Amino acid sequence: MSQDSAEPHPSDLKKLTPSLNMSTPGRPPSILNLDVLFDNPVFAGGIGLAGLGAAAAIARRSVIQGASLVKRRLLVDLEISKQDDSYQWILAWLSLPRPSGGVISSSLTRIHHLSMKTTSRAAANGPSHAHFFLQPGYGRHIVRHGNAFIQVNREKQSSANMSTGEPHETVTLTTLYAHRHVFEDIFAEAHQLAASAQEGKTIMYSSRGMDWVPFGDARRKRPLNSVILDEGIKERIVEDVKDFIGRQQWYVDRGIPYRRGYLLYGPPGSGKSSFIQALAGELDFGVSIINLSERGITDDKLAHLLRKLPPRTILLLEDADAAFRNRQQVDADGYSGGTVTFSGLLNALDGVAAGEERIAFLTTNHIERLDEALIRPGRVDMTVRIGEATRYQAAQMWDRFYGDIDVDGAGRERFLQKLEALGLVANASGERSGTFRTSTAAIQGLFLFNKGDMDGAVEMAEGLIPRKYEP
Ligand code: ADP
Repeated sequence: MSQDSAEPHPSDLKKLTPSLNMSTPGRPPSILNLDVLFDNPVFAGGIGLAGLGAAAAIARRSVIQGASLVKRRLLVDLEISKQDDSYQWILAWLSLPRPSGGVISSSLTRIHHLSMKTTSRAAANGPSHAHFFLQPGYGRHIVRHGNAFIQVNREKQSSANMSTGEPHETVTLTTLYAHRHVFEDIFAEAHQLAASAQEGKTIMYSSRGMDWVPFGDARRKRPLNSVILDEGIKERIVEDVKDFIGRQQWYVDRGIPYRRGYLLYGPPGSGKSSFIQALAGELDFGVSIINLSERGITDDKLAHLLRKLPPRTILLLEDADAAFRNRQQVDADGYSGGTVTFSGLLNALDGVAAGEERIAFLTTNHIERLDEALIRPGRVDMTVRIGEATRYQAAQMWDRFYGDIDVDGAGRERFLQKLEALGLVANASGERSGTFRTSTAAIQGLFLFNKGDMDGAVEMAEGLIPRKYEP
């Protein structure tokens, strides 16, 4: 192979190389005369600007990429959904006034956009109580915890919770990766705050849609000794429940669902609900309430709610007889008119119990309407009548209201004799002179009306005789 064929001749190169200087003297000017173009100030300026624009675009992209890299590498964020228990704790924690170390006082770091959460509860016979609670509104806020700055972003999502129709919400906390450990601190503090706010309180849950929601503010724990049931009844139930709570392993070993049911029946105003609330306080449980006579509580909804029972709560199914009333009302298609049916109640009670204990209380004023199928281990293990006031209860209630002024008990004796004479309670030997009955709620009402006035209470005891029922 010749050298010539491998390397081009210099004259060939000249032919191949496009001339950058087309205005070389002696050569005809080319169509693309770059010198002319570059000499043109408009063109040169344009190229300059374009260059600057490109450089700016590249710089911008680099900054964005750099920022996202920095964000990925240096920042850490944590998203909390409204569905999670910690959501409300964190909002409560964020709304704490912190003169130093928390929400600091420069305009950059103060929460400027707040939203209001009001909870109110109507008192039985009086004005309702309202609590106002300021929490960070939607948007971004910066707070400080110790040395760490944390960006808080509270957002409403476009999707909604199918059962309640409320939009999904999230709170995202972002901080430097190096400060990621503050999250543990914050959650521990927020949880502690929530726990201390509920200390000595009983949380009551009711159903909203397919979810359980706390019903009003947590109530002060009701002491067990403030509920006066007939001799030995309270002790028997409390002992049984405590024994059940201590026996999880026993149930697990025998493969028995870890649940226990109680049926309390008797006339209204005998203290059934009050007792369950006091028992929950004693056990440090909450109470999840469903009224079975409520419209909208269908079989599916009941089963779903029982599966999702808030942990450490006693389930209270009020008006259990409603399910039996509906047995006759179920039509050919199995439609019960939006209320729970008998088989729906049994299925829900038999539903898979979660790992945690399940304590269910059913109450009814009409035991005669219930079906034997309900009284089966795991559904109802203990049936107790909470009846009209007995002599024992009347005496105990007297002592609770007037014990400090009726030192020798003479007032109590007069009151009991009066009740005997009216035929409302038995005498000391258990004999009755009449057939009237009164409720403990009515006795409490009499004592409340005569606060600190024993004679007034004795005088007005006639009022305890039930009025004749006039339809
Ligand atoms: P029930 O659930 O049996 O209808 P509640 O527990 O709702 O009765 O009682 C109604 C009111 O009467 C409550 O304010 C409660 O404090 C009072 N009460 C009724 N029975 C008793 C009781 N045995 N001991 C103390 N308070 C009672």
